[in-house]
Amino acid sequence: MTQYVYDFTQGSKDQKALLGGKGANLAEMTKLGLPVPPGFTITTQACREFLQIGSEPGDLRVQVTMALRQLEDQLGRRLGDRHDPLLVSVRSGAQFSMPGMMETVLNVGLNDASVKGMAEETGNERFAWDSYRRLLQMFGKTVLEIPGEVFSDAWDKAKSAKGVTGDLELDVDDLKEIVEVFKAEIKNATGSEFPQHPREQLDLAIRSVFQSWNTDRAKLYRRRERISENLGTAVNVCTMVFGNLGDTSGTGVAFTRDPASGQAGAYGDYLANAQGEDVVAGIRNTLSLDDLRELDPASHRELTRVMRRLETHYRDLCDIEFTIERGKLWMLQTRVGKRTPAAAFRIAAQLVDEQLITLDEALGRVSGAQLALLMFPQFDRAAEKTLLTKGMAASPGAAVGKAVFDSETAVAWAARGEQVVLVRRETNPDDLSGMIAAAGVLTARGGKTSHAAVVARGMGRTCVCGAEALNVDPVARQIKVGDTVIAEGDEISIDGSTGEVFAGAVPVVPSPVQTYIESGVDAALAELTAAGGDGGGDGETAQLVKAVDRLLTHADQRSRLAVRANADTAEDAVRARSFGAQGIGLCRTEHMFLGDRRTLIERVVLADTGDERDAALEALLPLQRQDFIDLLTAMDGLPVTIRLLDPPLHEFLPDKTELAVKVAVADATGEVDPKDRKLLAAVERLHESNPMLGLRGVRLGLLIPGLFALQVRAATEAVIELTRAGKRPKLEIMVPLVGSVMELHLVRLESEQIIKELVAESGLGDKGLDIPIGTMIELPRAALTAHRIAEEADFFSFGTNDLTQTGWGFSRDDVEAAIFAAYLEKGVFTISPFETIDADGIGRLVKIGAEEGRKTKPDLKLGVCGEHGGDPESIHFFHDVGLDYVSCSPFRVPVARLEAGRAAAAGTPTEEI
Ligand code: PEP
Ligand code: MG
Repeated sequence: MTQYVYDFTQGSKDQKALLGGKGANLAEMTKLGLPVPPGFTITTQACREFLQIGSEPGDLRVQVTMALRQLEDQLGRRLGDRHDPLLVSVRSGAQFSMPGMMETVLNVGLNDASVKGMAEETGNERFAWDSYRRLLQMFGKTVLEIPGEVFSDAWDKAKSAKGVTGDLELDVDDLKEIVEVFKAEIKNATGSEFPQHPREQLDLAIRSVFQSWNTDRAKLYRRRERISENLGTAVNVCTMVFGNLGDTSGTGVAFTRDPASGQAGAYGDYLANAQGEDVVAGIRNTLSLDDLRELDPASHRELTRVMRRLETHYRDLCDIEFTIERGKLWMLQTRVGKRTPAAAFRIAAQLVDEQLITLDEALGRVSGAQLALLMFPQFDRAAEKTLLTKGMAASPGAAVGKAVFDSETAVAWAARGEQVVLVRRETNPDDLSGMIAAAGVLTARGGKTSHAAVVARGMGRTCVCGAEALNVDPVARQIKVGDTVIAEGDEISIDGSTGEVFAGAVPVVPSPVQTYIESGVDAALAELTAAGGDGGGDGETAQLVKAVDRLLTHADQRSRLAVRANADTAEDAVRARSFGAQGIGLCRTEHMFLGDRRTLIERVVLADTGDERDAALEALLPLQRQDFIDLLTAMDGLPVTIRLLDPPLHEFLPDKTELAVKVAVADATGEVDPKDRKLLAAVERLHESNPMLGLRGVRLGLLIPGLFALQVRAATEAVIELTRAGKRPKLEIMVPLVGSVMELHLVRLESEQIIKELVAESGLGDKGLDIPIGTMIELPRAALTAHRIAEEADFFSFGTNDLTQTGWGFSRDDVEAAIFAAYLEKGVFTISPFETIDADGIGRLVKIGAEEGRKTKPDLKLGVCGEHGGDPESIHFFHDVGLDYVSCSPFRVPVARLEAGRAAAAGTPTEEI
């Protein structure tokens, strides 16, 4: 029999796939002897089967009965009993955390009879009726799918009828009345009474949690976070403990370190006399953990002990949900907490300092994507700005945009290319699409643990929350702060690192991490000291810079993959070098033939005689030579791979239609230019239906005499000139689009001849003029015949752009717009194969190419220079396949360095503590 139900005493943190993150961690905490209310978890497998067959799998209900009875026996109470009833919470919990995306129902087991038993047992009638109305409200919304406003409007109406504003000002009689109103609303909306039977409530709640896996917002979240659609959620059924039993009770969320800044020391929000989601919903403003220490020192002490235990056990930042019921602490949830990029780096470095993790493990706690976010610009401290107010710094970044007041507007305006900041009183899970579309999120209520903050941090979106001074009016579509009014469409700027909110668009400047990357740690710290704010050279930003330096330095030491840059100009090369590039892996020479020089190529193409063509090539030679001198100078001492001309010739010629029109018009007026006519004939002759599969790459080199020879000559002359000047140029020549070893053989033969002659002429003798000639592997046939191609190649560089294009048969210039949106939607792939290497298909070709190449030449140098060279996931793949280097755009070099180190460190087993 399949086990669908696990008691909390049975599972462990390593069973997230089966028990979901929440269930696995509840089991782990139970195992650690921490105070977890007893309960059980229904597996993700049960959910998957439910979603597949549309009903509960065969013996799920029986297993729930067994688990429930065991729980009842253990506690000596029965679910929904009329005397001292057991109540349970029913909560979703998927393998990967999806905060606020799925459903929760609390107080299951209450009905018209048990509410009285509960009142008697607790001696708190108000509490019992308040719990009942909460059940009706949540059950109505979640399980019975009645719009939430039906209940919240009735609730607000009751308060205003009584002339009160606070929830706690409603008394027992008010609550009893509201319970009747809610029951009537349920009857009205569904045609049936609210189910009084506790077990029926439980079964329906479980079912609705299963179903909540497929809500629109959950699907959207998964697509964004690249979580598989097929995992399903587990369901946790847990004994209720109550934070709303008066002033000695309460509920809170806490982090063992600050998840926004990474500052050491626990951070949390606490709400006295409140239940469940009140804290994360950000509906009321919360107390700090220090306030809790004042309020209830014993519980605070216990909480501190538990947090330390958890952090030691998980060896990472943990976040927790807890409830204090009449002075007794209960742990409702824990997990390794989400954090901002800055916090990730700082916490990883702190944990190394505290000797809780190794430096290798620390690399596993940060990512290239996080580093990329830290390199974003920040607001210019020196700029004039109008501070509107200060809220909580919930998710860092500098966001500037037009204020919008609802999700739909955010999505619509962003779709037409506007930068927007989504302003809400508080966010709820339905705001997800607006949060994705916006550059930043600003809320008036809620703490750093509010929904807005948690979700924004998770997706790296700038967020300021709890800016209480803001009077947000979503109906009038405006914010008032004192006398200032910000209307929809007005620009505002929010600083997620300080919590500041400014009117207007504030200018941005490079981030300190960017300064560090370009100029080193001392320069970045000096700049911070000079700027003063935030503690200057000792402040939190300085600690961040030091943490990034520490981890990136370790990554560099650890990595086996070298990181080069794709750069075509000396300027790019200088930048790449300052970012830590160890060479140029791809110089696309085609850009050197555009602009003023385009006409020279035209002359090559139009030449009627060999002499004419040679003259045009001769004119190009000094220009090309200077290009290469500049590039090799910028990269002196480091390898520079110059790729011979690749794109189809027609790209250097005028547009066919435009030229045809010009000639036709000129014909009509009798003023036709014979050069235009000749050019048109050439353009027509060279026209191809599929230029990317036509006369390009090595084919050009073989069909247009003198073209590749010119480039080889220019590059070799550059090397000779620089060598004479005492420099250390390290040129590598690369041939594109090779499919057959014969193509490479022919180009190599000619190139070697040219190099030999030039070296002989130069009189440099054998003074280190070693110029390797290699090839790109970017056609499936090249990968499959790599053992042959390697005979003629000194190195391979995988061109995964063309390899993806030709391997899939996707035109890289067309399909992303035409096909990919639908393919992502339909789940054909979860990410564009042009972005992350398709490991099973195109990656396999890379693997075959690498293996076959090294069969012929065991120490054949292997690299990759397609876009994938800068993509974190792909870098790990290339490391595993055994390549020697990746080459990517200069801006991605730091990210690639970190990922290359992470890939190497991930291969080492870490010692268990
Ligand atoms: C490639 O195909 O991966 C490559 C690097 O070449 P290009 O993008 O210039 O075709
Ligand atoms: Mg290519």
